[in-house]
Amino acid sequence: MRLAVDLAHANRLKGGRPFGAVLAQGNEIIATGVNEIIASHDPSTHAEMQAIRAGTQKRANPSLAGLSIYASGHPCPMCLAALVMNGAEQVFFAFDNQDAAPYGLSSESSYQRLRLSLTPQPLPITRIDTGIHAAQLYGDEAWPAA
Ligand SMILES: [Zn+2]
Repeated sequence: MRLAVDLAHANRLKGGRPFGAVLAQGNEIIATGVNEIIASHDPSTHAEMQAIRAGTQKRANPSLAGLSIYASGHPCPMCLAALVMNGAEQVFFAFDNQDAAPYGLSSESSYQRLRLSLTPQPLPITRIDTGIHAAQLYGDEAWPAA
């Protein structure tokens, strides 16, 4: 989980949006991704989608069965749909939409417009506390020393 958050932070420092994701099989990292929509002009290049693209190409297999995603932010509907449709096992995330909302980074309104409910959850979605504060990743609070 911490790697996804570190990737998000590094991406922000490079001028990208502060999102990172790690596709994993158990404890093995299959692929990573960061949000590339600013550089690519492609709105589908969210961190989770980029990790999925890299991981499925590496494995030469479009299935996500048995794989989990660690996303710095709660997945948006597009990414969650890709995970559910292709059989991902579970989702872990560090920051939710309430954390992201003050910075304009929440996908809550998309869930609402699509009338998508996360109750019951379509797959296990679990928040993990990394010790990093939302204001450190999204705002002006200093990043903790390594
Ligand atoms: Zn997304």
